[in-house]
Amino acid sequence: MTDSQKSQGITLEADVLVIGGGPAGTWAAITAAQSGAKVVLADKGFCGTSGATAPSGTDVWYVHPEAQLRAEAKASRYSLGGRLAEEAWMDRVLDRTYENMNRLSEYGYPFPLDEKGQPHRHGLQGPEYMKLMRKLVLRAGVKILDHSPALELLADQHGVGGAAGVRTQAGDTWTVKAAATVIATGGCAFLSKALGCNVLTGDGYLMAAEAGAELSGMEFSNAYAISPTFSTVTKTAYYRYASFYYEDGSVVEGAGSQRGRSVIARNLQQGRQVYARLDQAPKDLRPLLRIGQTNFFLPFDRAGIDPFTQMFPVKLRLEGTVRGTGGIHIVDETCATGVPGLYAAGDAATRELICGGFTGGGSHNAAWAMSSGSFAGEGAAAYARKLGERGVKRNLKGLSSTPLTARPTPETREYTPAWIRAVQEEVFPYDRNLFRSEAKLKGSLGRLDDLWTELRLTPVEWSREGAAAREAAAMAATARWMYRSALARKETRGMHKREDYPQLDDGQRYRLISSGLDDVRIRPQPVAEPAGEPV
Ligand SMILES: Cc1cc2nc3c(=O)[nH]c(=O)nc-3n(C[C@H](O)[C@H](O)[C@H](O)COP(=O)(O)OP(=O)(O)OC[C@H]3O[C@@H](n4cnc5c(N)ncnc54)[C@H](O)[C@@H]3O)c2cc1C
Repeated sequence: MTDSQKSQGITLEADVLVIGGGPAGTWAAITAAQSGAKVVLADKGFCGTSGATAPSGTDVWYVHPEAQLRAEAKASRYSLGGRLAEEAWMDRVLDRTYENMNRLSEYGYPFPLDEKGQPHRHGLQGPEYMKLMRKLVLRAGVKILDHSPALELLADQHGVGGAAGVRTQAGDTWTVKAAATVIATGGCAFLSKALGCNVLTGDGYLMAAEAGAELSGMEFSNAYAISPTFSTVTKTAYYRYASFYYEDGSVVEGAGSQRGRSVIARNLQQGRQVYARLDQAPKDLRPLLRIGQTNFFLPFDRAGIDPFTQMFPVKLRLEGTVRGTGGIHIVDETCATGVPGLYAAGDAATRELICGGFTGGGSHNAAWAMSSGSFAGEGAAAYARKLGERGVKRNLKGLSSTPLTARPTPETREYTPAWIRAVQEEVFPYDRNLFRSEAKLKGSLGRLDDLWTELRLTPVEWSREGAAAREAAAMAATARWMYRSALARKETRGMHKREDYPQLDDGQRYRLISSGLDDVRIRPQPVAEPAGEPV
């Protein structure tokens, strides 16, 4: 419910509004604009430096279209993901990612050359990539609203027609009336201080659910990344070269980056510090690794540690759905959400379609962001074309489930840090979120439900502080969809681990769709069978 007395800011009209300016949002904006749509993009931070990709570097699922290579690529994570991925979606994403990466080369992205002098297109440096994407967005004629978090979607009886938010630097509000809206707000890392995740609080999930959209795979939301204890850099790719030790130098048996993170977690949980050393990296590769991910090495350089030869203490930091796979449920090939006029892309949308319940490190998420962004941009532009003039000439209402008010509310300013801490206390501990059981999930849900009731009733102001209170609400809502889904999945599959159901159960090979705000509902949805032999 929106208070119409909110402080006057800017009002714009567009065919397509994109909320979020990471890889998914920028690809959506460019594609929609190239399809002829008038596009506005609103970002919570600064489009080009905000979000998970911008400060890091991403491996990308870029696979040559040769049949054998493609078959291997599809098989590589299928079992790890609990056989929930769908072949048709993997094919579409592999095709579109291949196309988009080649386009990036034409647009001037400086891919390094391999030994045959060919561009090596398997990864992207975040800062260069996102700087280029911002340039391309502007070149496509898109209007960018930086430092402009969306607080709520707008809708009438025909569906979603834009959004409204605050401009945190100008100190006023924005409203964009648009025929179609793409949510590309990234995932939810619960303000764990993981690299690039300070803006990723699940806002898009909450706004979509408030419009009646469903979510999928929210049980696959407990990605924890390895990082040195003295830094927030969660680039985990290089830990494939790590050995893990106790303080006395003895090996931590079974610990590893891809399959042994639980062993690290168990030790940390029992108060035994685990150390890493990248001693499995071949000597001749080490200088290249330094060039490949310079920011990985910064904290070590600052601390005077050579990570190839010296042990350093590690911790596991929650990245939630950012490197998990759950998100807004997608109902067709245009990344539509099922709510007319509303589309979702990137980490805001479920990635189960291409990697099931486990991403297993990089590449798939980056590929999904650029391809789903393009699909959603095309779909939203086509929808806007269909609506024509009717798209923006509508009597729209705000959909926020928390009361939004023009008055300063001391409550939101005072309570927000405590609300955020209360959610974090339920989702950070390994023994609740990583090693799950019915008793612990129910305990957390009881506390989260109470918190949700309080948040739901407390007025939130149209201001920077109000935006933070909405973040707290989005995190609480996300945790409730996560744990309700985790409770319903009575087995261990993908990254979802139940101590009381430690085995995978073939009878539960379905997706879990969650929805609702005060009452969270869960329903199973069948998964398409692979065309070939299961791998
Ligand atoms: C350290 C790290 C390393 C990674 N490495 C890899 C890798 O090697 N390979 C791989 O495939 N994936 C990797 N990932 C995951 C990958 O970065 C993400 O999948 C990708 O960034 C998703 O793009 P996105 O556009 O959906 O979200 P993001 O890049 O997170 O962008 C979301 C944007 O939405 C904005 N936003 C949020 N809320 C609002 C709001 N309310 N209103 C307006 N704007 C909002 C944010 O400011 C942000 O700009 C990594 C992630 C991390 C954290």
